[in-house]
Amino acid sequence: MIVMKFGGTSVESQEAIARVTAIVQAREHYRPVVVVSAMGKTTNKLLEAAREAATGHRDGALALVDEMRGHHLTHGLSLAGAFAAELDRYIRAHFEWLDELIKGLSVVGELSPRSMDAVASVGERLSSLILSFAFRAAGMRAQHVDSRRVLFTDDAFTQAQPLFEETYMQLRDTVRPAAQQSVVVMGGFIGATLGGQTTTLGRGGSDFSAAIIGAGIDADEIQIWTDVDGMLTADPRIIPGGHRVKSISFEEAAEMAYFGAKVLHPATLLPAIERNIPVLILNSRRPDVEGTRITFHALPCRNPVKSISCKRNITILNIGSTRMLLAHGFMRRIFEIFDRYRTSIDMVSTSEVSVSLTLDNRENVDLICRELREFSQVSMEDGHAIVCLVGEKIRHTPGIAGRAFQVLEKKNIRMISQGASLLNLGFVVAEADLRETVAALHAEFFSDLDPAVFD
Ligand code: ADP
Ligand code: ASP
Ligand code: MG
Repeated sequence: MIVMKFGGTSVESQEAIARVTAIVQAREHYRPVVVVSAMGKTTNKLLEAAREAATGHRDGALALVDEMRGHHLTHGLSLAGAFAAELDRYIRAHFEWLDELIKGLSVVGELSPRSMDAVASVGERLSSLILSFAFRAAGMRAQHVDSRRVLFTDDAFTQAQPLFEETYMQLRDTVRPAAQQSVVVMGGFIGATLGGQTTTLGRGGSDFSAAIIGAGIDADEIQIWTDVDGMLTADPRIIPGGHRVKSISFEEAAEMAYFGAKVLHPATLLPAIERNIPVLILNSRRPDVEGTRITFHALPCRNPVKSISCKRNITILNIGSTRMLLAHGFMRRIFEIFDRYRTSIDMVSTSEVSVSLTLDNRENVDLICRELREFSQVSMEDGHAIVCLVGEKIRHTPGIAGRAFQVLEKKNIRMISQGASLLNLGFVVAEADLRETVAALHAEFFSDLDPAVFD
């Protein structure tokens, strides 16, 4: 049994859905459970419609819904064959429900996290239905399972945490037996509380759903099908020309995901690691490319650095102790405040009199700063980026930092950190310097490649 997860671009259009259908059909004998994201850009549009409605732009919101309805009908129905009439009814019913919800939001003039999840969930509910019908029309035995009856979460709407015990039990008792009979198709990203309220796992969360489902059905493999050939040595949106990494360890991949490699949602690997299930990154446009294989132990690699990940839109907070020295308990007070606001810190560096740290979530930053100022001086700098070298051999290879600094000689590096795991070396630079920084580091560390590991 395997899990095959397809991201938004992999199901964005009728052509894309046809490609996915062929890919799954060729692997039907592995008994796949297919996990799918909303059709490309749908989640953004749904949330935009919700916001428009709640801020009094009812007609604009309904027009957006109409546009999505048209897209889903056009692209969804064209592959449903004899099932088109049935699917048409389902799609229209979902959009009628959405119309009512949007009208309701415009009356109330308020958008709660719970309503956001109700609206956002429509994308995956529809894409999974559409895919299940396309599979059936292509002659496969396929069955749609509503993820909200399987993937249980707490009620932290928009960022819900899975209730693993309940979810794994349901997966084992219902989804695993169903997948013995037919291809199961489920929406990623969405779940429900035990009381039945719809939740989502946070943006990009379909990867996480795939891993949870993989762990729960005890899959032999979790395949993440996306729009790139695998994990690359650099983020292709920052610099082109990165090389495919064929084999990478769970630890390395987790570090890459955490430091911005969008190709994998950061929480994805935990369930896979716990049950030791290999994760593959594959390209739905080029299914013959072997992709990236993520396992406990990666292939031995001559190159110390496996990839460079980056995270943009980073804010630095400099927190100075008002006393001359960092008094006992200073750090604890700082971290307690971030903890209370559920705001995570990516990087920290300290000197005798100050602490600098980076954030990518500015939601509560004003409140946090107000509390910090009660016992310290705080300054904030926006517009930064983290650049992170990742590779298990970094810890055993002397001179990596030296080489990096030489390359970055003329750049203003704002912060440096090497994680306790010693498999990353991170720098904070101005966002304006990001591209050049990555290009320079890439040229330094990837000019001579180990062919066993890189393409
Ligand atoms: P999906 O919709 O399939 O989940 P995402 O857009 O979430 O796809 O993730 C795939 C994207 O991740 C790629 O198109 C690429 O731009 C980006 N990405 C960032 N860093 C990397 C990297 N190191 N290797 C591969 N892709 C990366
Ligand atoms: N559709 C959701 C999003 O756009 C989840 C996902 O694609 O992973 O964030
Ligand atoms: Mg994604």
